[in-house]
Amino acid sequence: MLKVYNTMTGRKEEFLPLKRGKVGMYVCGVTVYDECHLGHARTYVAFDAIRRYLEYKGLEVNYVQNFTDVDDKIINKAREESRKGGADLPILIKGIVKKYTGEYFACMDKLNVKKATCYPKATECIPEMIEIIKRLIEKGYGYEVDGNVHFSVKSFNEYGKLSRRNLDECSHKTRVALEEQKRNPMDFALWKKRKEEPLWDSPWGKGRPGWHIECSAMSMKYLGESFDIHAGGEDLIFPHHENEIAQSEGYSNKNLARYWLHTGFVTLRQEKMSKSSGNFFTVREVLDKYPPVAVRFFLLSTHYRKLIEVSEEHLEAAKRATERIAACLSNVKKKGMGLSRSMQPTSNRIAIESAMDDDFNIPVAMGIIFKLVSNVNVLTKNEDFVRAAVLAADIESFCNVLGLKFRADEEIEEELLSLIREREQFRQRKLWEEADVLRQTLLSKGITLEDTPRGTQWRRL
Ligand SMILES: [Zn+2]
Repeated sequence: MLKVYNTMTGRKEEFLPLKRGKVGMYVCGVTVYDECHLGHARTYVAFDAIRRYLEYKGLEVNYVQNFTDVDDKIINKAREESRKGGADLPILIKGIVKKYTGEYFACMDKLNVKKATCYPKATECIPEMIEIIKRLIEKGYGYEVDGNVHFSVKSFNEYGKLSRRNLDECSHKTRVALEEQKRNPMDFALWKKRKEEPLWDSPWGKGRPGWHIECSAMSMKYLGESFDIHAGGEDLIFPHHENEIAQSEGYSNKNLARYWLHTGFVTLRQEKMSKSSGNFFTVREVLDKYPPVAVRFFLLSTHYRKLIEVSEEHLEAAKRATERIAACLSNVKKKGMGLSRSMQPTSNRIAIESAMDDDFNIPVAMGIIFKLVSNVNVLTKNEDFVRAAVLAADIESFCNVLGLKFRADEEIEEELLSLIREREQFRQRKLWEEADVLRQTLLSKGITLEDTPRGTQWRRL
């Protein structure tokens, strides 16, 4: 039985989708105005692995992830560029959105994150947002003041149910409220009156939608008024997801999502990684130094709800761990052993699945995998390749579920291959000293050689 931790109830619950065999899943996407940092990658890699596991269990996942392409951060960046003598603001905004959407896909492709079923953009769903706001005003949840529309948190009885906050906690915001003509300091914007581009016509005059209404409109448009999983980073619980709930449920009188899943923070030097603090590693700079499979492994090796501390040391350890798995699989395959998966579930597979069924406990499942790697290495050494191949099949199949793609054998670098050939020639000409120098060179590059009557065989360390 699959159990997932639901932020809404604070408990692990049995996962029961609304429609048998199908899962509707919405993950809050990025605001496209800058490069992705490792905090973003953690969230999207974690939910990608969760999606892959649900698919492995035979569920059909409709995975929707938005792009926020209208936001003050994007507009401010465009203004900066325009002050430097760039083109018109709308053109600059388009350029920024295009550039960083491309950047997002480039990084996620490298990290082997599967494409979502669809990627709605906020600017393509403005009519849907206006419809929701109209209904919210009719039902007494929203109110207009001078072209701005706010959501009245007092009108929604369950406000605070996700983040477990009560409204009285935030009275210090009164001054802000007065400035923005809000009835309550906690009220938030559904529609913002604006005089400058980008803006849209609405029943309340020209303006832009608030950030939270974007996700309400996009999730309901593609997944319906009620769906299974709503996910995002932990920092979105309040106010973003709380406000989404108030808007969507105020609008539809239905529960928006059955399960709310959140990833933990990523820290660097013990501080939360965030763009605003300047304390971050971009995905690109990490991928310049480490193989993508190692970065993906690193992000998955801590449980998705727990905090990850990033350091060179941890990334190095992840790199070594993935090399160990890759070498183990490659050594079995090089003996011509196909890793055919048996139809009967092995005891290892059952143990791995029971870890994953417990709120996607990848670290526990990885522990089982590394025990298997040790066993396979012993069997390979003892030339018991038949038994090694059976265990290796379990390793490979679980790594596939997690989206960990290892370099195939035949992908050995041409440079290394030519060194192996060169040494083989020295050996045939009985030039032992020269052959030995090359053996040492290859060893320093992680390749060990074995001279057999059938010729030289290589394997990765
Ligand atoms: Zn969102």
